[in-house]
Amino acid sequence: MTPKRCDVLVIGSGMGGLCAAALLSQAGYHTLVAERLPRIGGRCSTIEYKGFKCAAGAIGPEMGGLLEETFRQVGAEFDVRPAGPPSYLINGKICEVPPKGGFRKLFAAATSDEAELERVMGAISGALSWMEPSRTTSLREWLLQYTQNESILSIFQAMVSATTMLNASELPAREYFLFLKKLRGYRGFGFCPQGSIALPRALAAVIEKHGGAIWTRAPAVQIITNNRIARGAVIKKEGEEIEIHASAVISNCGPGRTVQLVGKQHIDQGYLKELNTDVRAVMLIAIQLATDKPLLDHNYLIVTGARRINALFQPTNVCPEIAPPGKHLLVAGAAPASTAPPLNARAELDLCFQDLRDLLPGFEEHAEVLLTGTFHGQWPAMHAWPGDDMSLKTPIVNLYNVGDGVKSPGMIALPAVAETARLVAEDIKMRLAPAA
Ligand SMILES: Cc1cc2nc3c(=O)[nH]c(=O)nc-3n(C[C@H](O)[C@H](O)[C@H](O)COP(=O)(O)OP(=O)(O)OC[C@H]3O[C@@H](n4cnc5c(N)ncnc54)[C@H](O)[C@@H]3O)c2cc1C
Repeated sequence: MTPKRCDVLVIGSGMGGLCAAALLSQAGYHTLVAERLPRIGGRCSTIEYKGFKCAAGAIGPEMGGLLEETFRQVGAEFDVRPAGPPSYLINGKICEVPPKGGFRKLFAAATSDEAELERVMGAISGALSWMEPSRTTSLREWLLQYTQNESILSIFQAMVSATTMLNASELPAREYFLFLKKLRGYRGFGFCPQGSIALPRALAAVIEKHGGAIWTRAPAVQIITNNRIARGAVIKKEGEEIEIHASAVISNCGPGRTVQLVGKQHIDQGYLKELNTDVRAVMLIAIQLATDKPLLDHNYLIVTGARRINALFQPTNVCPEIAPPGKHLLVAGAAPASTAPPLNARAELDLCFQDLRDLLPGFEEHAEVLLTGTFHGQWPAMHAWPGDDMSLKTPIVNLYNVGDGVKSPGMIALPAVAETARLVAEDIKMRLAPAA
């Protein structure tokens, strides 16, 4: 083995790892990112297929929030075009939502009972302005105290599962209101004209500009510790095992895999117990369709009351570059009945395709299925249900986690991931100086 040295070793080139590496290399830390796959970006990347730039995960990065701010801070290009606000399909009718007063407009489309409307609005307003509900109550249980109206409940189910990726019966009510407060319900997002991989590529350019390196096809096989302090990792590259020594190690591969890389015998029992009992990955289904004419008038439609589909995106309305000329890309998102394992993929996909036939006139004649993805296991929608996340620091000194298994309360997906990177980079800057 040939030992090498850097200030910060980042395991994994997801957006969490790359944001952290870009922030630290800009601050003068010699940074190495080791990625096991041949491409960077993890679940924010692009699969080229039949001339389409299909998403390997994230399709709609948030605009105007922490992610974009991180790009601006490190001087990386944030090539995202706004998708505009979502439209809603409620009881077969399209409902457009104004920037303010959205909830009232949505519920008015679902009920003519004024007293019920006021009851639900009053409860929401209390949870937003005074105290969030308990984290032991699911959003659905919380809502049932105020309404039994299935149309209103299905609006919440669609909104919540399309944005937080959990069903309303699974998401802690508290997390939903924190999400509304912190991320304003994830309202402003866009599509990447060069595919989602443009974002990791822009960060990689910053890291390399500041002297850092990114290795692909380079899995970490062990995190090296000594007296409960992280010393580096063993990276496999071109058949050789290379020992990399570092002052800090940032793992982007999810808290469960981080522990495997360290070896359970080195980890505090309480931490292991928390990891094993509290942390479940979020599952998601995404179906990417090529169509020879636009099957949707909208860029982003939240679908209420369907069997499984909760959102339809037509990114080519905004970014025609991601499809071959004359073709369109349509992406359907769905939450399975339970977003915790096991997944009955065949039954769930069957329900999704029944929905697509109902929702998209012309589906049979004009659509071709490009990719059908069930996202779970080590490639989930998120490594932890909102509210169940592990901490950024691990029991091993100078070993941090970044990514969507260590989100802070109320934070979801890419903005959450960017925040973890920012917090870890700040902690390292406070505690460890770069080598001269
Ligand atoms: C279908 C789908 C749609 C989504 N849509 C959206 C969306 O529209 N908007 C949004 O904000 N978010 C969305 N998300 C969520 C978002 O993609 C993720 O939250 C985010 O990309 C996760 O980033 P991360 O840094 O946590 O980890 P990842 O992207 O998982 O990156 C981790 C990296 O670590 C690498 N790795 C693992 N083990 C090792 C090892 N031993 N050695 C080296 N490398 C290793 C992996 O290969 C991977 O590249 C979606 C997710 C999915 C699955």
